[in-house]
Amino acid sequence: MLTNMQDATDTTMETSATNSLRERYEKVKAKVAAAAERSGRSANSIMLVAVTKYASMDQVRELVKLGHADLAESQVQNLMQRAAQLDEFVQRHRELGQSGATTLPEQVRWHMIGHLQRNKVRKAIGVIRLVHSLDSLRLAEELQAIAGRIEGEDPVELLIQVNISGEKSKYGVAPAAARHLVEQIDTMLALRPRGLMCMAPLTEDPEEVRPVFSRCQELFDDIRRAGVGGEKFNILSMGMTNDYEVAIECGANLVRVGSAIFKEDGETYGPQNSKS
Ligand SMILES: *Cc1c(COP(=O)(O)O)cnc(C)c1O
Repeated sequence: MLTNMQDATDTTMETSATNSLRERYEKVKAKVAAAAERSGRSANSIMLVAVTKYASMDQVRELVKLGHADLAESQVQNLMQRAAQLDEFVQRHRELGQSGATTLPEQVRWHMIGHLQRNKVRKAIGVIRLVHSLDSLRLAEELQAIAGRIEGEDPVELLIQVNISGEKSKYGVAPAAARHLVEQIDTMLALRPRGLMCMAPLTEDPEEVRPVFSRCQELFDDIRRAGVGGEKFNILSMGMTNDYEVAIECGANLVRVGSAIFKEDGETYGPQNSKS
């Protein structure tokens, strides 16, 4: 498994001029695997979510054809539109039995990673597999009120977004309020708290974000140790293009990566890897 990924990385270096989506994707997967290994875990214990907000629809289709299932958008409108387009594409592909149909994932799963406005909750609820950005009791109550009325549906799974660094520009609850919010959500029958999400401050140096991720991981562990949310409270979503390796080293088991997969010849994910 790892040897294969290593090969993929080597290929990427040899043909770095091409730098195709497939190569970038393989490279990210290899780095995820290496970071997982460094933290004593297996590669498949980390979920890679591809953030499509800057990607073209063609790129999104290409990635799904490679077998990738987990995608994320930060705006409900875009998420809904892309989910519909992709459904159509997958269906057509299957019907025609086109090449590549075999690698198509069983099901595409959409993650909502941006701030969720309460007035947009209603139409998105059935499409979103995991909400990463639950950041208030009011929003939880709104979700419960809507989802609670839909008979036979599975609970809406969500992560509580925590503003670890306390920056004013960031959404999320204060660390000290997180546990209580998880407890409250746990009592809502149509919702299921699955874990925490955080974003690190924007910085050039990925090492600067380590304390932020570590703090979120400690908070996550505290809540789990207290038994709040039960067994299913087991997702720690942190890490983006600039810092996903550090995030994994700090305990993340879900990373949200956009640019490193979709952006062509991004400076941050080529040259620094070659030894020349
Ligand atoms: C845009 C975004 C990402 C992905 O960012 P990249 O730096 O392109 O990997 C991850 N998480 C959230 C919440 C985002 O808004």
